[in-house]
Amino acid sequence: MEETTFIMIKPDGIQRRLVAPIIARFENRGFTLVAIKLVHASESLIDQHYAELTSKPFYPGLKQYMLSGPVVAMVWKGKSAAALGRAIVGATNPKESAPGTIRGDYCNDVGRNVVHASDSVESAKREIALWFKPEEIAHYAPCDLGWVYENV
Ligand code: UDP
Repeated sequence: MEETTFIMIKPDGIQRRLVAPIIARFENRGFTLVAIKLVHASESLIDQHYAELTSKPFYPGLKQYMLSGPVVAMVWKGKSAAALGRAIVGATNPKESAPGTIRGDYCNDVGRNVVHASDSVESAKREIALWFKPEEIAHYAPCDLGWVYENV
């Protein structure tokens, strides 16, 4: 149960006052919040975060979008946190995101898809290390774990 994932509310999510509803999706599913901060990212942080995408034609627009305002960077813990986090967020292109997912409920265009979720356990480790110092990650046991999970 030590798996963690990196979830980020993008600038449009903040501008559209969706911070609380997005956080509620993860709390309601039984994830544990272990780190959170509001960050206006630097160019270099966004380049590193999206290192695999910097040569894509959409990258300049993506970078401008990600630098347009602050983001909420978070680390959430839970069973299969990375895979489940992706499922909660929904498909990259909101035109294909199922209703009930965050993107499927709040978004229309791929370039304004309000939230990021790590796409694997390995990506989560890399992204958490990029956005947070080890001392910014909290270690605690929520009192309801035995009610969230059959086997803790
Ligand atoms: N993106 C875009 N146009 C595209 C593909 C992606 O603007 O054609 C943006 C979109 O905001 C997406 C981000 O680039 O969330 C990262 O793309 P990735 O394929 O890693 O999708 P994600 O992991 O965010 O679902």
